[in-house]
Amino acid sequence: MSDEDSQTQKKVFDAETASSLVKELRKNFGSGKTRSYEWRVSQVKALLKAMTDNEEEIVDALRSDLAKPSLETVVYEIGVIKSSCEGILKELKHWMTPEKVKTSIRTFPSSAEIVPEPLGVVLVISPWNYPMLLSLDPVLGAIAAGNAVVLKPSEIAPATSSLLEKLIEKYMDQSIVRVVQGAVDETTALLQQKWDKIFYTGNGKVGRIVMTAAAKHLTPVLLELGGKSPVVVDSNINLKVTARRIISGKWGLNNGQSCISPDYVITTKDYAPKLVDALKTELQECYGKNPLESEDLSRIVSHNHFARLSKLLNDDKVSGKIVYGGEKDENKLRIAPTILLDVPRDSLIMGEEIFGPLLPIITVNELEESLDVINSGDKALAAYIFTTDKKFKEEFVKNVSAGGLLVNDTTLHVVVDTLPFGGVGESGMGAYHGKFSFDAFTHKKAVLYRSFAGDSSSRYPPYTDTKQRL
Ligand code: NAD
Repeated sequence: MSDEDSQTQKKVFDAETASSLVKELRKNFGSGKTRSYEWRVSQVKALLKAMTDNEEEIVDALRSDLAKPSLETVVYEIGVIKSSCEGILKELKHWMTPEKVKTSIRTFPSSAEIVPEPLGVVLVISPWNYPMLLSLDPVLGAIAAGNAVVLKPSEIAPATSSLLEKLIEKYMDQSIVRVVQGAVDETTALLQQKWDKIFYTGNGKVGRIVMTAAAKHLTPVLLELGGKSPVVVDSNINLKVTARRIISGKWGLNNGQSCISPDYVITTKDYAPKLVDALKTELQECYGKNPLESEDLSRIVSHNHFARLSKLLNDDKVSGKIVYGGEKDENKLRIAPTILLDVPRDSLIMGEEIFGPLLPIITVNELEESLDVINSGDKALAAYIFTTDKKFKEEFVKNVSAGGLLVNDTTLHVVVDTLPFGGVGESGMGAYHGKFSFDAFTHKKAVLYRSFAGDSSSRYPPYTDTKQRL
């Protein structure tokens, strides 16, 4: 065997390699080092430093993977990770402190507390669309809660995945935090192992694969999935602000390739032309007359996704429905912001999560019908409403089930870390961000303390009638 062959063989990551990795991490976790407040803080500070020291390299990696504008990387990837680090550093001591709770008269005298403890060795599998943020944010939660972690970033964002491995190797405790790069084979090898939790972000099809693999070992899963996030637009609104906020959430975040991007709009037949006009005006303001050339729009991540989106546009059911955009450049993997009006609900574009720069508008006679349209589909990760009608807003909040709701804006709920972020039904299970990230990777251990006093005979046989009446 040549040297080159033996190198290639060494690099194969199979079930055996995965098993040794988990064994090694389990042993290191067993040493107890991750339980201390000091170790956890040192790792969070290390990650914060990695973000500060390497901003330019991170921006370059995301530009290479997605042509992501540097502002989006600095604000929505690096900036959010830094805020998470800072939030943990501020609150961790408090989160780690056992919580005293009341006890029952049946246990008198006694005291009780809930003791947070790490789950053990956990696996984080992340996607390509926010490849830095969606890798490191769950890793931060796992570390803050005192776990050992393996991160498997997405092969579809290879520059960021390599950088993640490099940064984690350089800045973090290698005996506890590891990166495994790879695609389906490597992920399958990892999924065959016994983990104490699997945190998966991506599509529902793979979510099912993850959950099936986890079931074999009774491993809990947190699934951050996607869906069709609707935007309902009333006619009593500030139209300019509404248009700009829809644009920011749809095209301003990775050109529609975000899990909480507005997927489709519902408005009334009468109001739709006004909304379309406002969107057109504001889109031109943001991206100029030739958006395919705009540096402020990410590209489509891959040829597969480009082909998928083209197919949605080529569907006969939406022919003639494009009222803005529609330009494409396959060589550069660019698609312009595109609006389709009066899209039939049985078209391809309404049958799956779009995850790209196409925005269909569905029209209804009365806006109240929008709730039926939304509730007839799978539960989305987010749902948005623009209205000044207090009653309609309340009805929306009460009757629409989605991971999160936002009134009079899009996507911003994701940065409020006092709110849990996660899906429901088809959009996922479990939640994270802020304290919810710590909780996602923590077992809340119930501890009851008794002394030898108060040993009432009523609990011991013989079970007499008198004891039963007590
Ligand atoms: P992806 O293709 O990068 O896949 C995600 C991960 O799954 C990758 O690490 C990949 O290697 C792994 N994977 C792929 N196929 C696999 C298989 N057969 N077996 C095991 N592992 C496999 O990303 P994606 O799924 O295209 O991401 C887009 C989806 O993710 C959208 O549905 C989006 O809404 C959702 N998403 C959700 C959130 C959230 O926070 N809820 C965030 C981002 C994206």
